Amino acid sequence: MSTENNEPIKTICPYCGVGCGIKVRPGDMRFMPWADAPVNEGSICIKGGAATEVVEHEDRLTDPLIKEDGEFREASWDEAYSYIVEEMERIHDDYGPDGMGFFSSSKTMNEENYLLQKLARRYGTNQIDNCTRMCHASTVWALRTSLGAGAMTNSMADLEEKADVFWIQGANPGEQHPIANSQYFRQAVLEGATVIQVDPHANKTTRSFDIEGTERHMHLQNEPGTDIPLLNVVIKTILEKHEENPDEGWIDEAFIEERTQGFDHLKETLSDFVKAEAAEQCGVPLEDIERAAEKYAMANNSAIFTGMGMSQHTCGVDNVQNEINLALITGNLGRPGTGVNPLRGQNNVQGACDVGAMPNVLPGYQLVDDDEARESVEDVWGFEIPPEPGLTNVEISHAAGDTVHGLYIMGENPVMSEPDGNRVEERIKDLEFLCVQDIFMTETAKYADVILPATTWAERGGTVTNTDRRVQRMRGAGKVHETTKHDLDILCEVGTRLFGEGFDFDGPEDVFEELRQVCPDYHGMTYDALGETGIHWPCKEPGDEGDSFLYEDGFTTDSGYGQIEGVRHQSPAEVPDEEYPLILTTGRLEEHYNTGTMSRRSPTLKRQHPENFVDIHPNDADRYGIEDGDTVKLRSRRGEIEVKVQVTEAIKEGSIWTTPHFAAASANRLTNDVLDERAKIPEYKAAAAEIEVDIDPADEASTDDTPADD
Ligand code: SF4
Repeated sequence: MSTENNEPIKTICPYCGVGCGIKVRPGDMRFMPWADAPVNEGSICIKGGAATEVVEHEDRLTDPLIKEDGEFREASWDEAYSYIVEEMERIHDDYGPDGMGFFSSSKTMNEENYLLQKLARRYGTNQIDNCTRMCHASTVWALRTSLGAGAMTNSMADLEEKADVFWIQGANPGEQHPIANSQYFRQAVLEGATVIQVDPHANKTTRSFDIEGTERHMHLQNEPGTDIPLLNVVIKTILEKHEENPDEGWIDEAFIEERTQGFDHLKETLSDFVKAEAAEQCGVPLEDIERAAEKYAMANNSAIFTGMGMSQHTCGVDNVQNEINLALITGNLGRPGTGVNPLRGQNNVQGACDVGAMPNVLPGYQLVDDDEARESVEDVWGFEIPPEPGLTNVEISHAAGDTVHGLYIMGENPVMSEPDGNRVEERIKDLEFLCVQDIFMTETAKYADVILPATTWAERGGTVTNTDRRVQRMRGAGKVHETTKHDLDILCEVGTRLFGEGFDFDGPEDVFEELRQVCPDYHGMTYDALGETGIHWPCKEPGDEGDSFLYEDGFTTDSGYGQIEGVRHQSPAEVPDEEYPLILTTGRLEEHYNTGTMSRRSPTLKRQHPENFVDIHPNDADRYGIEDGDTVKLRSRRGEIEVKVQVTEAIKEGSIWTTPHFAAASANRLTNDVLDERAKIPEYKAAAAEIEVDIDPADEASTDDTPADD
């Protein structure tokens, strides 16, 4: 291993978007705590503590692989590069630039995502996307359109200090952002804040606020897919109370008047809305929702947290818009302790979007179909950017073998991460050329024509942007395998071989220097200025300290106003029927991460949850004759998986809950790939399903999970 000394390096946890600082000791690649890390001050969750376990894992890819006669064989880097360039040029000649798609990665760094999106655009296509499409595309759309920026409005620190009410809807920070939950949100509750949680599933977040001696936690356990009616009950309650008692401060009239547009549309939308009917539809007592509305509206500072329970619906944009409506009419934006705050899943999903790894925006969320924005980037890049938005990643998968014939994937695993995985797998087999750049053999890489072995997060440097817009530096502890290459170096070489110029960079800092020229929110940052604490964007000029909260002086929408827009309930695309009488909803576990490529190889994490399971309500279990621990088959219109049963009141009767992490029984074999019309995010959170009991015990071993190449 190439290291200069054994001083632990300071870097960032590779898992969730909280952005905790950790140390890695070169040589043995051991995890060490970073006591004064800016976000977490030395605290760490089980995933962060186990993060280094996979760095030296025996399954690491160490040499380029090329498929020949259906089998992989080792190849030299030169041969692999030549093969890739030849195939990409052939596809360009045969089908034009939109014959290729590019999947960037929320698990890789800003500089790497920046380079891959630049490479796609130099190739002539905007068909570049990252997994934000699957988690928060709708949130980003709604926030960008109605407030100005597709990101958390506030920071974890100001929320902990100033928020009186935490409204957490469709998010499970206790499980998915453990340090944000324990160190910031729970701490605030211990100091007097109130939590209102809206979620169909009782989970670790619910349990984390069950604090002895406090009554400051409400859980509104709604039916899946009823977030709009629930929020409409809240908003209508606030409007009615304001009518009755205009001086009590239920809404913020001055804020609405001076800083928003669309209030009349909201009132009109709710004019014939019947609260009692909606509460029944939600499965939550009306008086509980009214009580929650009062707590939110009457607090000095109320903050909304939103997660994938809101975003992953065909009405995902409208779900988030209704949260924005609530915040705008009560004036809960533009100051500490307020806002609408999406908790981002992966350690650099925010950054991958910021640097333009999406089909409709360039770095800094500048629209590709905005001539002026495009020209300003072209001035730096020196080539023309295609003016039309490209296909999103799910659309690219749908088009594989049809209009898309080649795919370049950096660090993603769509066969497991995208909905209707069986269909994705079939389509990917139809590609003429698939290149995968990764650290392990994945369920997707099995179908590749060429695989490039990359280095892990611990071995290389760069920057990542966490959930509250803090850009932080990662530092490399040196390579484990000299034959592997950093993602950035691979992209520089592929770009240079394809295009001759524009991709010759001297490491990540050199790339960052170009990035800040084309990304206005990063323009004031340098590696030196980021130092060890990082900077929250926007940081527009050198010397700016960045903003921990947004919109103090105005919104950054086209009009300058916050946009209110009334929305109505929309049922999920699939609702229960005779054949599929249950609603399947999905979520993640604290101990696992996405498709499990890393976490399933970590002994510590795998021990906690070695295989998938399904939560079933006791009444449903009785009806089906199922006991806790039985193995059942879950079926949807798209596929089936076998899982063990947990009988629990954590889930509502009529709903079942499972996870996407395990290859042997991934929830995404069942989920529906229908998309939100605007943001193109799939509806992972609601699909019609059925349970089949009396599984042959001889087949039960199939629920055991192993990584793709074991
Ligand atoms: S909370 Fe997130 S960033 Fe922090 S240690 Fe855990 S997984 Fe890593």
